[in-house]
Amino acid sequence: MANRNTVTRFAPSPTGYMHIGNLRTALYSYLIARHGGGTFILRIEDTDRERLVEGATDVIIKTLADVGLRYDEGPGVGGEHGPYVQSERREIYKKYAEELVARGAAYYCFCTKERLERLHEEDENGGYDRHCRDLSPEEVKKNLEAGIPYVIRQKMPTEGVTSYVDEVFGEISTENAELQDQILLKADGYPTYNFCHVVDDHLMGVTHVVRGSEYLTSTPKYALLYDAFGWPRPHYVHLPLLMGRGEDGTVSKLSKRHGAVSFQDLVAAGYLPEAILNYIALLGWCPKESENEFFTLSELEALFTIDGVSKSPSVFDYEKLLWFNGEYIRRLPFPKFCELATPYLPADLPKALDKDKLLSLLAGRVSCFSEIGEKVAFFRELPAYDVSLFPNKKNKVTPELAPTLLAAAEEALSAISVWDNDTLFTVLSSVAEAAGVKSGAIFWCVRIAVSGKTVTPGGATEIMEVLGREESLARLAAARAKF
Ligand code: GLU
Repeated sequence: MANRNTVTRFAPSPTGYMHIGNLRTALYSYLIARHGGGTFILRIEDTDRERLVEGATDVIIKTLADVGLRYDEGPGVGGEHGPYVQSERREIYKKYAEELVARGAAYYCFCTKERLERLHEEDENGGYDRHCRDLSPEEVKKNLEAGIPYVIRQKMPTEGVTSYVDEVFGEISTENAELQDQILLKADGYPTYNFCHVVDDHLMGVTHVVRGSEYLTSTPKYALLYDAFGWPRPHYVHLPLLMGRGEDGTVSKLSKRHGAVSFQDLVAAGYLPEAILNYIALLGWCPKESENEFFTLSELEALFTIDGVSKSPSVFDYEKLLWFNGEYIRRLPFPKFCELATPYLPADLPKALDKDKLLSLLAGRVSCFSEIGEKVAFFRELPAYDVSLFPNKKNKVTPELAPTLLAAAEEALSAISVWDNDTLFTVLSSVAEAAGVKSGAIFWCVRIAVSGKTVTPGGATEIMEVLGREESLARLAAARAKF
């Protein structure tokens, strides 16, 4: 049973896809809660109404379900601190913004859009000039009664320093004079992120705010809101930046130009959710006293502690993810492998082809399901190839020897009707012996003849077993005819 000693939340804005950095935030937040036997909350931050994307919340919920990050409270699950979708909590924010005004820590601002635009034109970085900060209570009342549109702004201290201690980055301080009187409640009645996440984190009893380090420097403003309400501040756990390496070797914030960056795109490209999750767990965290890199989610729950989180940026390494994925695919039980790999097989494979044998040939040989199409293309159709592929030093195949070996192989294979790997192997081995060559020479030539390639999943006999007798013999004949 979850306790409330450690309460974390994942608070995504519904963008329509799950950026891998966001998924890492969700994972770490989840793990901190689970490690402490605590509570993990999902909260949807949809107050930026201009950026709403249809169906985006479902993508978030489905992603968390796909990777097994079960939440104790949130949309669809409920909980005593709901609703868990911010657009359904408007009245709450309004009430708290008004309370802050009453406490003298916020104020009504009636400045028009035109005035603010003019200010911005005059000085791009100047920010708001605090024009309405000292309006008299009578003026405010009069404006409100006249129905003049307003926003509510946070009244920042103008001197001194605000600090907090981040669990990962240590002490972070900001000169108060640098803080803008930021908007808490917009003219449309919706709160800003800056305001509502603080109110929600407090009301939902969040003890550890876990999020990306882009919020590291704005957190003093949020800490001031806690102080103004007289609420205890939460622990802050900001996570290291997630970077990508460009083709020229330079490192920058992970984005589409580095490759697929959403969970959905990676899954569609043939990555397993477990492999993705395992890999991203290590992007910014490492276990104490363990060399192991393979962790199930429940192992991570047992191991994950905040002091293992690094503050240096992590670089997303696609090669490493591919390696992880290959390892995970190799560990799949064969029936599961078949289930997941089958959709990647070409739809128009020849009927005579043995699909089960093809799948066992592939098992253990793919690092990502999306490789399958290319790997098996030659089964569907023999690619055009040149006889120059046959001569090979290592296997001692000369241009003169190749056609002789192919003819001998074709003759011996035409004579048999049992067509399994073992029989094919025995037959070809005796062909080699009779020809006085190493068996490598014959297997090399036959493999090229039946695949049109020098690198294939599986060897000559395995490929022929999948192709079946008729097609294999036809391909051998076609190879011989090339000389
Ligand atoms: N909605 C914010 C985001 O997606 C949440 C930041 C936070 O966790 O406080 O970036």
